[in-house]
Order: sequence, then structure tokens, then C-alpha cells
Amino acid sequence: AAKDGGRGRHHFYDDDLHSDARERQQLEQDLRDAIAGGALELHYQPQIHTKTQTITGFEALLRWKHPRHGYLSPAKFVPVAEETGLVSEIGEWVLRKACRDLAAWPNDVRVAVNVSPLQFANAELPSIVAQAIADSGIAAKRLELEITESVFLGEDASTEAMFGALKDIGVRLALDDFGTGYSSLGYLKKAPFDKIKIDQSFVRGACVEGSRNGAIISSIVSLAEALGMETTAEGVETFDELDLVRLLGCSHIQGYIYEKPLSSAEVVARLERGLVAVASGPRSARASR
Ligand code: C2E
Ligand code: MG
Ligand code: MG
Ligand code: MG
Repeated sequence: AAKDGGRGRHHFYDDDLHSDARERQQLEQDLRDAIAGGALELHYQPQIHTKTQTITGFEALLRWKHPRHGYLSPAKFVPVAEETGLVSEIGEWVLRKACRDLAAWPNDVRVAVNVSPLQFANAELPSIVAQAIADSGIAAKRLELEITESVFLGEDASTEAMFGALKDIGVRLALDDFGTGYSSLGYLKKAPFDKIKIDQSFVRGACVEGSRNGAIISSIVSLAEALGMETTAEGVETFDELDLVRLLGCSHIQGYIYEKPLSSAEVVARLERGLVAVASGPRSARASR
């Protein structure tokens, strides 16, 4: 609710007004102030292993605690950060902060960090990642980088070199939002992913009669298994969806049915209760509406 508090009074941050150059400029300035003033936070959403029902890691999700608008979703400001180039600075902060937080958590949990295509195109990314790992003292294999299919747009020799350099550091790689972009199966063969994240748009509605989503999820799982990759079903909200993605063989689950993104203080409290995860939520989507 807090994040909608400014609607009507302020025009900034309304999706349809993003094209207004002055409002963009204001948002950019606010974002610069936010970086300088420490108003960015990371929240963490547990990722659960389907068979053992234990937490294997947390995805770091950026939040902007805005003085007037409350918590702003990254969907609102990450695009602006990308356009203005601020995403490099923010991305480095995210990497360093996530590694630092992870250092205080049990050794058998990982952290997953979203990497924007712009960061991925920066030849310095491997040294930034290596530095964040070294400074926090974590094992490289506990860090997973989530990248989207869009990094393959305009793919060239440097794309392959980047994958190689990141794998050399020892971090894990996940392909995020799979199936929503310019999907090509060709790059699955070339890129050394450890995990494919099945986009929540396939999970949503998968239990509706006549839906083809189950067939799509099932094919992605077969493909991933054949290539030795894990699969995470994203955005699982209901027990029906949970039952389905389990049946279809997704190795990991992330969604409100287990846990919403938690503040770092909440993560620490959550970890004190151990790694076992318990699902809770509506049976079906209809019940939640
Ligand atoms: P994503 O990487 O696909 O992250 C998953 C999104 O799904 C998150 O939204 C998460 O809160 C949401 N989600 C998880 N489970 C459920 C569920 O059961 N139901 C529903 N309805 N949603 C669920 P969030 O936190 O708003 O992030 C949106 C996107 O912003 C992310 O999508 C990612 O692309 C981007 N993002 C977030 N943090 C960062 C970051 O540090 N750097 C960059 N470059 N992008 C980020
Ligand atoms: Mg992600
Ligand atoms: Mg995703
Ligand atoms: Mg997404």
C-alpha cells in the first residue's frame, strides 16, 4: 500500500509517464540521492529444494526505501538505472552487500544476485565479482549470478569470454525468466548455466483447465535435466501450483507459497529456525482472489 501512496498527488513513478523526460530526470536525481543516502536495501527470498524441502539459498531483490513513496519495486527504477548507467554502480553495491550478508549465514546456503545485461556487457564484471567474493571471504560457489536471455542479443565473442571468465571464478550461473525473452535453444548448449529459472508467467495459470503451461514447464525440465542443469519454478503461490511443479520435476521452488522476500534482519531470524521450509497459502488461485 505504501508504494501506491503517492499516486494522484505526484506524477513521478507512474509507469505511463516514464517517457516524460523531466520526470525521468527527477527520478534519476532521486535515485542518485538514494544511492548516496543509503536508501537502497536488499531483501531476500528463500529458494527451496523440492525433494528435501529445505532452503538452499536466497535471491537478493533490490528495494528502494523512498522518503515519500515507501518501498519501490525494482521494476520501477531498474529501467531508469539502466538508461542512465547508474545500474553499474548499483549492481556493484548489490554484489558486495549480498556477499557480505551471506558471509554471516550458514555455509550450506547460497545467495543469488540479479545481474543486468549492462553489467554483463562490462568487461570489468569478473574482477568486480572476484573482489566482492574476496572482500567478504565467502566461497565462490555460494554466489549465483542470475542473468536473462537478453544478454544474448548482439552476442559476440565477448559474450562467450564473459561466461568463461565468470565460470573461472567459480560462481554459479542461472538463466532467469526463461521462456519470456528471445528464447533460443542454441545458447543453452554454449553457455555454462547451472540452473534455469522458469518464469512465473508459466507457473501462473498452469493449473487452469486446458492450460498448455504444464506442457511447457515439463519440456523445460526435460531439457534442463538432459543438459545437467537444475530448474527453479518461480512465483509459486498456491498448493495446486506447488503440486504441479513438483510433479513436473522442477528441482527448486521459489514463491509466496513458501516465503515472500525478507529483510536481512528477517533472514537472520528465519535462519534461527533452521532450513526446513513449510508451505502455506491458498489451495488454488480462485481462493486467493
Ligand atoms: P526476478 O529476478 O525474476 O525476481 C523475481 C520476482 O518475482 C521478484 O520481484 C519477486 O519478489 C517476485 N516473486 C517471487 N515470488 C512470487 C510469487 O509467488 N508471486 C508473485 N506475484 N511474485 C513473486 P521484484 O522483487 O519486484 O523484482 C522484480 C525484478 O526486478 C526481478 O525479477 C529482477 O529482474 C529485477 N531486480 C531485482 N533486484 C535486482 C537487482 O539487484 N539488480 C537488477 N539488475 N535487477 C533486479
Ligand atoms: Mg532473478
Ligand atoms: Mg525471474
Ligand atoms: Mg523478472
